[in-house]
Amino acid sequence: MTDYRRLRVALLGAGAVGSQVASLLRQHADELADRAGARLELVGIAVRDVDAKRDVDLPKELFTTDADSLIVGSDIVIELMGGIEPARAYLLQAINSGADVVTANKALLATHGPEIFDAADQVGAEVYYEAAAAGAIPIIRPLRDSLAGDRVQRIMGIVNGTTNYILDRMDTEGAEFADVLADAQRLGYAEADPTADVEGYDAAQKAAILASLAFHTTVPLDAVHREGITAIDKPMMDAARHAGYVIKLLAVCERLTEEGGTESISVRVYPALIDRAHPLASVHGANNAVFVQAEAAGNLMFYGAGAGGVQTASAVLGDVVSAARRHIAGGVGVGESTLANLQIVPVGRVTTRYQITLEVDDQPGVLATVAGILSEGRVSIATVEQTVVESADGESGVARLVIGTHKALEQDLSDTVERLAASGVVERVVSVLRVEGN
Ligand code: NAP
Repeated sequence: MTDYRRLRVALLGAGAVGSQVASLLRQHADELADRAGARLELVGIAVRDVDAKRDVDLPKELFTTDADSLIVGSDIVIELMGGIEPARAYLLQAINSGADVVTANKALLATHGPEIFDAADQVGAEVYYEAAAAGAIPIIRPLRDSLAGDRVQRIMGIVNGTTNYILDRMDTEGAEFADVLADAQRLGYAEADPTADVEGYDAAQKAAILASLAFHTTVPLDAVHREGITAIDKPMMDAARHAGYVIKLLAVCERLTEEGGTESISVRVYPALIDRAHPLASVHGANNAVFVQAEAAGNLMFYGAGAGGVQTASAVLGDVVSAARRHIAGGVGVGESTLANLQIVPVGRVTTRYQITLEVDDQPGVLATVAGILSEGRVSIATVEQTVVESADGESGVARLVIGTHKALEQDLSDTVERLAASGVVERVVSVLRVEGN
């Protein structure tokens, strides 16, 4: 057996991910040593309750509630506690004591990333976070390293497994949102409080991390436009299917070139229609996928498990091996790149296609009035489908218009929808959805 140098590895957290990381570190110790060029010695695991039952068998003596002492003298600190505090304080302590750090904590990086990366820069430490964006899917390194010689134009990601699971079942089974959410909670795909997932907060954190890397720009969380999926209902799903689309919660990170050639970026999370032939449309269940469009490479798709203890542990261990190699041979980690710091534009300045569904009076001339309002609002119609809404006693006097638009400015579109709603001929704006993926 090669006599490798020993690196002291401290683990903070032994929950769904941490317990698997600890187990794999021990189980594959020899192989990992060969790959890393150093023996990764797990010196301790900080938790809240040392007596709590763990998912895997681990020696009792590794557990401690004293994270501070564990961090001191460690070469690599893996933070898998989650949340902001004390995770932030422990990471900073680890960095300042000379360790490289590995974290899967998207909430922390999306809110305190610059502080953590700056602290690491100051002492020459490195921060690795492959598991923070889409669980097991390697996407951080491809953006940071593999595509370093290219220019990313656009990223569209299904980066939240819970919402994809819900939308997929609504699409394939014709189920209602509330029923699928209840099922997802029972099966452990959704938390008891599902807000972070269904309102798009989790996806927004990941979008901020991906966009920061892809566009070399600090993207604060509050610059990410965010909408969740709670308003998506069965009629919207049915209408999407009828038109050849599927509804997905998408994280869209896009490079924009404004008049005069100035570049800016847009980062947004919302439910959108996507053509059924698009690769992202075939992402089912709780899976994640990230579709990257780069100037030279063209279209790339990264697909797999976006969560799960052992799956996420794979990404964490990859980072630990990278950190160990750096300890031996030097070099840089993932870190943060702010060299471009492009302006982040509000969603109102973004152009997309839309599908607008209206209920209108079924009278002659109404279609012409609607078309006129759209045209005045600089929203150009691509397709229109009209059906009569049936009522219990026959015809209701109401028609349903499904209008597909060409690309329009979001601000123009929302002003126009307001004008339509107030026009007197529109009974109800049923839905307005963006169409992505063109
Ligand atoms: P988890 O199951 O809730 O485990 C958290 C662990 O941290 C527990 O072992 C807990 O100790 C420990 N802990 C929490 N607060 C602590 C404190 N103040 N001091 C010491 N220990 C503390 O979390 P997880 O699901 O493994 O997630 C860990 C991180 O990975 C999070 O940042 C999460 O966002 C990220 N992540 C998770 C997944 C996933 O599929 N789960 C996927 C991608 C990324 P006790 O056990 O004693 O309570």
